[in-house]
Amino acid sequence: MEFIDTHIHLQDYKARYTTEIISAAQSAGVCRFICCGTSPQDWGRVASLADEFASVVTPAFGLHPWYISSSTGEWEAELAQMLSAYPHALIGECGLDGAKNPSPEPQLGILRRHIALAHTFHRPLLIHSVKAQSWFEGMWKELPPCFVFHSFSGSLEFARQIIKSGGYISFSFSIMRHPHAAELIKTIPLSRLLFETDGPYQPPHKGEETAAETLPELAAFVASHRPETRAEVFAAVYHNSLELINYAHK
Ligand SMILES: [Zn+2]
Repeated sequence: MEFIDTHIHLQDYKARYTTEIISAAQSAGVCRFICCGTSPQDWGRVASLADEFASVVTPAFGLHPWYISSSTGEWEAELAQMLSAYPHALIGECGLDGAKNPSPEPQLGILRRHIALAHTFHRPLLIHSVKAQSWFEGMWKELPPCFVFHSFSGSLEFARQIIKSGGYISFSFSIMRHPHAAELIKTIPLSRLLFETDGPYQPPHKGEETAAETLPELAAFVASHRPETRAEVFAAVYHNSLELINYAHK
C-alpha cells in the first residue's frame, strides 16, 4: 500500500537529513510529499528540495499567518514568480490563526490575495485555520475550486461547511487528540479525505520531530473509524492525494 504525505515541511527538520527522511518514509510506503513553504524566507529551500527530489517532492509556496509581520510587501510578486517558475506547485501554506493573533486583519486580506492567485494560476490552496472558523463566514464562495483545510481539528459544523463548499479535509496526528475524532472522521466523505504528517510539527509523541514514515500509523487510526475496509480507505485517500498533486496539470 502506498501513501502520500500531503503536507510536510521538509526544509524545517533539524535532526535528520532530507535523504534520510525520504528513504525512511519510502521504506514505510510513503512515496510522495507536498513540501510546504511558509514565507519568502523558506521558498528558496522548498524550491531546491523540489529540484533535488523532483520525482517525489511537489512544492507549495505561501505566506503562513505566523510570518506575515516578518515579510515585506514584495511577497505577492515573489509568490507569483515562484508559481510561474514551478507550474506544478500548489499555493500554501496560508490561512488564518486567531490563536496567534486575535485580529482578523491583515490575515484576511493576505489570505484573499492567495485566493486570487489560486484562481489566476489554477492551483490548489492549502489552508491553515486555527480558532478562525467565524472569519471564514462569507468567504466560502470566494475560495478556488480546489482547496484543503490542513491538519483539521475544528468542529463538525466547520467540517460540514468545508465539504459543502467542495474542499478537502486533511488529518494529521492532531486528530487523535480531538474529543470527537470518531464522529468527525465518519462525517467526511471518502472522496474528500487526505492524510499528512505536518512534519516536523504535530508529533504523535510530544517533543519529537514527526517522521514521514509514521503516516501509515495515522492512516490506520483514521481507517479504524470508517465503515469501509482499511484497503478501501487507503486506496481512496491515495487517489485523492494524486488528484491534488496533479490538479495544476488539468
Ligand atoms: Zn504546516
